[in-house]
Amino acid sequence: MSFLKTEGIVVKEVSTGEADKIITILTRGQGRLSALVKGGRRPRSRLSAGSQVLCYGDFVLYKGRELYSVNSCEVIEPFYEIRNDVVKLTYAAHFTDIVLELIQENQPAPRLLSLFLNSLHMLARSSRDPDLITSIFELRAVSISGYAPNVEACMACGAAPERYYSFSFRNCGFLCDRPACIGHDGSAVPLSAGASRAIQHIVYAPMKELFSFGLSREVLDEIARTTRRYLRERLEREFSKLDFLKEI
Ligand SMILES: [Zn+2]
Repeated sequence: MSFLKTEGIVVKEVSTGEADKIITILTRGQGRLSALVKGGRRPRSRLSAGSQVLCYGDFVLYKGRELYSVNSCEVIEPFYEIRNDVVKLTYAAHFTDIVLELIQENQPAPRLLSLFLNSLHMLARSSRDPDLITSIFELRAVSISGYAPNVEACMACGAAPERYYSFSFRNCGFLCDRPACIGHDGSAVPLSAGASRAIQHIVYAPMKELFSFGLSREVLDEIARTTRRYLRERLEREFSKLDFLKEI
């Protein structure tokens, strides 16, 4: 018999059979994997608590011929603060959509998983604006996954000035204020000094300092537009879960 012991977070559950479900877990060692939870929809199942979406736990999985099945699960962090708050839950669903897009089966993605867990912790327990946490998560997640924008030097002339003036989505990076550089991409989006510094921080800061900054509402809106568009253009799809917040 083949068992796999791993920590992971449940990001999706689908009902199957009379009382079973299939869950998707993002694990430390194996990347993304699917596992059957026998009887997992029965309220008194010993596996029901640990197999719910956003539950981070210690799993023992049995490797069957086609699918893993969950043998046991010890809850480490249930993220109750998120699950009991419809607004936080909507932000978490947006983060989940993004990690599901970026983490593949059997491809460990420890940095992305850490970012996801840290972002959920911030959403659950900090007083940080959820829009700021979201922008940090979006830009850092695509950067970790190989789509980092170039924010160390001007994309047109290669100089590294104190301050950058615009972001070129076409060239995936900053432009400086030299006329030739501004003209390099007519569709580049103007950036305030605060926004360009925040973008550099999000791409390069060590994980433990990643969330330690604040922004005015104005700069935050600017950053949010930039990171959302960058995410959409790099991953070539819309992420629409946050639209729900406009309806409530
Ligand atoms: Zn330049």
